[in-house]
Amino acid sequence: MSTQGSTSSVADGTIAGTDAPPGIADSHAQLVRERLLRRMFVMGPPTVLTALAAAIAMAAVFFWMTRGIGALTWGIATCALLGLRLLFMRWNARLYPEPEFTLRQPDGAWRFMLPLGTYMAMWTLAPWALMPPGTESPSRILILLLGMFAVLMGSVPVIATWRAMVPVVTIPLTLGVVTRFAWMGGTDGWFACVVGLLFGGSMARYALSQHQLIRRSLSDQIDKELLSEQLMRQSFELQRLNRERSRFFASASHDLRQPVHALALFSRSLERDLAEHPLAPVAGRVVQATDAVSGLLNAMLDISKIDAGTVVPRPTEIAVDPLFLRLAQLFEPRAQQAGLSLRFHTAPEWLQTDPDLLLRVLTNFVDNALKYTRSGGILVSARPRGDRLRLAVWDTGLGIAPEHLPHVFDEFYQVDNPQRDVARGLGIGLAIVKRLVDLLSGEIGVRSQQDRGSVFWVDLPRRPPAAPAPLALAPAAAPDTASADTAETPLVPPRVLLLDDEQPVGEAVRMWLAPYCERIEITSRLADACAQVRATPEGFDAFIVDFRLADPQDGIQATAELRQLAGRRVPTILVTGDTDPERVRAAYASGLVVMFKPVQPEVLLRTLHQIIRSEARERA
Ligand code: ADP
Repeated sequence: MSTQGSTSSVADGTIAGTDAPPGIADSHAQLVRERLLRRMFVMGPPTVLTALAAAIAMAAVFFWMTRGIGALTWGIATCALLGLRLLFMRWNARLYPEPEFTLRQPDGAWRFMLPLGTYMAMWTLAPWALMPPGTESPSRILILLLGMFAVLMGSVPVIATWRAMVPVVTIPLTLGVVTRFAWMGGTDGWFACVVGLLFGGSMARYALSQHQLIRRSLSDQIDKELLSEQLMRQSFELQRLNRERSRFFASASHDLRQPVHALALFSRSLERDLAEHPLAPVAGRVVQATDAVSGLLNAMLDISKIDAGTVVPRPTEIAVDPLFLRLAQLFEPRAQQAGLSLRFHTAPEWLQTDPDLLLRVLTNFVDNALKYTRSGGILVSARPRGDRLRLAVWDTGLGIAPEHLPHVFDEFYQVDNPQRDVARGLGIGLAIVKRLVDLLSGEIGVRSQQDRGSVFWVDLPRRPPAAPAPLALAPAAAPDTASADTAETPLVPPRVLLLDDEQPVGEAVRMWLAPYCERIEITSRLADACAQVRATPEGFDAFIVDFRLADPQDGIQATAELRQLAGRRVPTILVTGDTDPERVRAAYASGLVVMFKPVQPEVLLRTLHQIIRSEARERA
């Protein structure tokens, strides 16, 4: 009789996939039993050969000594039984092959124990058959005892695997010796009888203690395997959840960016067109609200861009003085307005770093200091510390409680804004700053005391003074936005072709750009855009193409097709709402001018002018 054994992913050495039924469900005791049973079945066949050798040796020695038929008959019968046992084992192995033992195994040990018990009966008879009553001699007694003890000792490693095997083997062996020598009687007989009993008993105890050891080590091993399987399962689950979370945020962010992008363009058009209207203040408020949402989306994008590796520091040698001068220009009016002092403690020091990224870090520190200081002032200092320069922003503001301090660099962490009022910040500035400082191979730090003030600092490698180089610091703007060039405007209003599968976005772009363009064509499918260009290959000065289209092609491939039809490299802006780091990387790798939704309307216009002018310069 056989049953389906326990299905254990641990026992067969494989870790089941996350969707598989958990192997952990198998009871621990059942797993131990399964492994012991497997050992017994696997160890069986090799022991038959040893048993055969022992039986032949004993029978041969006693036949040689006694020339009795008993030894011969016993030898032949024992070998025959061993042969039968071997056949039985082969049958077992066919029924329960070792590689599939965890899936299919015997429901009990009887298939192994029954042939073993039958065979062991021969060893109960052995002392009687090998040394029949009347043939005893001291040397025969000794040889018989030694032979039986050797067989008993040799069997211990095998019988220790299965508890029931201990009595099945030790009792028949001991019984034969004990009864034979008790029958013999006399001092020698009783002495041998007691020795046999003691030896059999101690071997049985030893085998049982070995069995406990094996059981315990198997149990520990299974514990470890179950634990590591559980850990692996949890880590797979965590990875899956992380992937799902990223996917969810990426698509939520993409879907959110579309309407906000359109809203930003519509609201700015409204504000512009209602300039003289009584509703102009309302339009202004709409623009402000839209800017706040755009700010949040763009801050999230900044993190994606840094994580995507698309923000690459461009280190140059810069002096501290002009850097502080720039900060003073940016923040003095605001400090004055707030009644706070803004002082600088500079040093004749130089740094080898990216000035734009460093300025973003420091502006964030000063901006926060102004935001969280009610009275007193702010000090910006530069002090050498060994081979590093510490740029620090000190304030006499609200300070940060010790329990919040370790989290201020976490994304979206705010100390005192439970209602998540966007007007009071987003809690993302310092998270971006931390990433930027990592990019600059610097170290960021903070110390704060509640109601006394805070100091935020960045440590960067010092450079020995060099020949002063003109320091051109770009405004603290997002690195993707093409630098503004408002002084120059194109001589003629441009002709623009827009390709975006979102109709509201198309309408919004048309509404915003139309007054500045000679012609603006809005298309939502690549085929329509191609038809437009085919009709007038020279008819467009610029393309604005969405990255993700309703067509099989993406914005980069679409641009290539449109440029081919136009027969020239028409200046193109690739607009995208994707913040997934892979997509961000792909967008930048295209070599096109990339802008992220929601685009600031003025920046879109400036960038459009700029790419047309630089293309005209290249052609000239
Ligand atoms: P936020 O845009 O909300 O200011 P930040 O990431 O810049 O986000 O800052 C995270 C939190 O750290 C803020 O909510 C604020 O409570 C705290 N914080 C930052 N700078 C200061 C400072 N100079 N003084 C007191 N608290 C500060």
